[in-house]
Amino acid sequence: MNRRHALKFGALASAWSALRKLRKAPNVNTGKQETVLVIGAGAAGLAAARELESQGFDVTVLEARDRIGGRVWTDNSLGHPVDMGAAWLEGTRGNPIVKLAREFEVETTPSNYRSNQAFDTEGQIIDKNAFFQLLLKTDRALEETAALNRKLSANPSADIALAEALTHSAWDADLSEAELRIARWMFAWNVGADAAEDLKDISLRGYWAEGEPEGFDGAYHLFPRGYGQIIEGLAKDTSVRLNTQVQRVELDDHGVRLTADGMELRADRVLVTLPLGVLQGGSVEFVPELPKRKQQAIQNLGMGVANKVVLAFAKPFWPQDIHFLGYASGQEGEFVEWLNVLRYTKAPILSIWSHGDCARKMESQSDAEIVEHVMQVVRKRFGKETPNPIEALVSRWDSDPFAGGSYSSLQVGATHADFDALAAPVGGRLFFAGEATNRQHYATVHGAYLSGVRAAAEIANLAR
Ligand SMILES: Cc1cc2nc3c(=O)[nH]c(=O)nc-3n(C[C@H](O)[C@H](O)[C@H](O)COP(=O)(O)OP(=O)(O)OC[C@H]3O[C@@H](n4cnc5c(N)ncnc54)[C@H](O)[C@@H]3O)c2cc1C
Repeated sequence: MNRRHALKFGALASAWSALRKLRKAPNVNTGKQETVLVIGAGAAGLAAARELESQGFDVTVLEARDRIGGRVWTDNSLGHPVDMGAAWLEGTRGNPIVKLAREFEVETTPSNYRSNQAFDTEGQIIDKNAFFQLLLKTDRALEETAALNRKLSANPSADIALAEALTHSAWDADLSEAELRIARWMFAWNVGADAAEDLKDISLRGYWAEGEPEGFDGAYHLFPRGYGQIIEGLAKDTSVRLNTQVQRVELDDHGVRLTADGMELRADRVLVTLPLGVLQGGSVEFVPELPKRKQQAIQNLGMGVANKVVLAFAKPFWPQDIHFLGYASGQEGEFVEWLNVLRYTKAPILSIWSHGDCARKMESQSDAEIVEHVMQVVRKRFGKETPNPIEALVSRWDSDPFAGGSYSSLQVGATHADFDALAAPVGGRLFFAGEATNRQHYATVHGAYLSGVRAAAEIANLAR
C-alpha cells in the first residue's frame, strides 16, 4: 500500500471507529450505556480500553502517574529516545505488537544477540572460542537440571531454586575461577535477565514447566524511536485521567465505587491492571477483600527487578557495529548487558542492564555513585582516559510506588496456575489484566496487551 492509500485508509478507519462508538453497549440491568473504569494506563489497560470503546462502552482510564505507558517509558530528555522500561519486541511470529507497529506506522529493527563482545573483570575481551566452549558447558549444565526436576516432580509441592539445582552436578569441576565468573555471567544473561532475578530466586519447576508454551518465535526487534510510540497509538482515542491514584476499590450491589485522591468514582465494572508489585505492596484496598486464592497468587509470584543505566557520551569509544557488550562481572546481575544504542539510533549512547539483588541494592545509591561505578568498569575495558558521559539516566523500578519492580517471575514455590488465579474475575464486576495475569506471555508488553484484550472480552461477554 503506498502512503496516499495508507492515509486514506487511516481516515476511513477513524470514521469507522467513531461510528462504532455511537453504538452504545447497553447495561443488561438498566438499559443505559455500560460504564467501565480501568485502573492503569499501561499496555494492558490501554488495550482493554481501546477494545471496550470500540464496542460502545463508556470507558475512563485512571492513571496515577503524570504520563501513560507504565513500564513502557521512552525518555526523550537526552535529545534521543531511550527506553528505560521495555525495549524489545520479543519474537515477531504471531506477536500482536507487530500488527500494532504496522497500524501505527512505527519502525522496528532487528536486534542481534549474537553480535556481542564480552569482557571480563580485568577488562580483557573474552576469546570467542573460550566463549563458545563455556556457553556449551552452561547449556549442558542447565539441561542436566531437567532430570533433577523430573525426579522432584513426583512430589507436586517440591520445588528448589535453579542455583541449588546446578550444584547437583559437577559441571564446573574443571573450571578456573576466571572461567567460573564468565560461566556465571552466562547464566545471568541467558536465564537471570529473563526473570530479572538471581538464580537463587528462580524456580526449577517453573523453568522446566512442561506443556507451557511461552513466548513467540522469530527475531527480537527494537524500536529506534522508542516503544512509547506503540503506547501512544493505543491511547489515541481513549479518555485517560492522569495524576489519579486509586486507593480503594469497593464492590456493592449496584456496581463499583473507587476512591482516588479523595474523589469518589462509580461505574458498572472495573478492570484492575495494577502491577503485581503494587498488589503485593497493598497500597490499594479492596472491599470486600480479594478471594484467598488470588491473595495467595499475589504472594506466590515473584516480582523481579531489572534496571538500566543509560550513558550518553560526546562520541563513541566502543566498537560501533556490534549490538551488545557483555560484562562478566564477579557479582551476579551487575551490568550484565550493554546495548549499543548507537547501532540503532546513531546517538553515542550505551544502555546498561542490571537485575536481581544487585539491581535492588543499586537503587539506594545516588545517580552519581552508580555512574562512577559503571565508569570504573568502562575504564578497565577502554582505558583510563575514557571521558565521563555528558549525561546519564538511571531507572529505579523497585522503589517506584506505581511499579514495585520490573516484571513478574516464577520464584521458588510459584506455578503457572498463579498467573491464572490472578487473572480470574471476581463476581462479574471486578476484572484483572496486566502482564502477571498472562501465564503464557507474562513479563512482556505483548503479554500485557493480550491480557487487556482478554479482559475486555470477559467484560463484553457479561454485558451482552
Ligand atoms: C526495565 C524493564 C525492561 C523490560 N523489558 C521488556 C522488553 O524488552 N520487552 C517486553 O516485552 N517487556 C519488557 N518489560 C516488561 C513490560 O514493560 C511489562 O510487562 C509491561 O509493560 C506491563 O504492562 P502492564 O500494563 O501490565 O503494567 P504497567 O505498564 O505497569 O501499567 C500499570 C499502570 O498502573 C499504574 N498504577 C499503579 N498504581 C496505580 C494506582 N494506585 N492508581 C492508578 N494507577 C496506578 C501505573 O502507573 C502503570 O501506568 C520490561 C520491563 C522493565 C521494567
